[in-house]
Amino acid sequence: MVFVPLEGDDSEGVEDMPLFKSHRKIHVVIDRDPCIGCGMCEGLAPEVFRVNPETLKCEIIGEVTPENKADVMDAVQSCTMQVLSIKH
Ligand code: SF4
Repeated sequence: MVFVPLEGDDSEGVEDMPLFKSHRKIHVVIDRDPCIGCGMCEGLAPEVFRVNPETLKCEIIGEVTPENKADVMDAVQSCTMQVLSIKH
């Protein structure tokens, strides 16, 4: 099957379109048991991650926004125990 772009198709750069962005909301998922409470995620994206001082486990405390998305992605990739993942 071949897809032919429609005349005027502006699919390149489509991620800059506000409507497109609103349909690409992402969520962070944590597998809490293996978390060691190191605080790396909280340090990188404190709006979204917090280490609970009583349980010493990470908690998700905020939503991923266009403003903090890069920091959240950095935190997910930097997680010491690799227990963070992204869900679309
Ligand atoms: S970086 Fe990973 S292991 Fe460290 S506190 Fe955050 S979720 Fe837990």
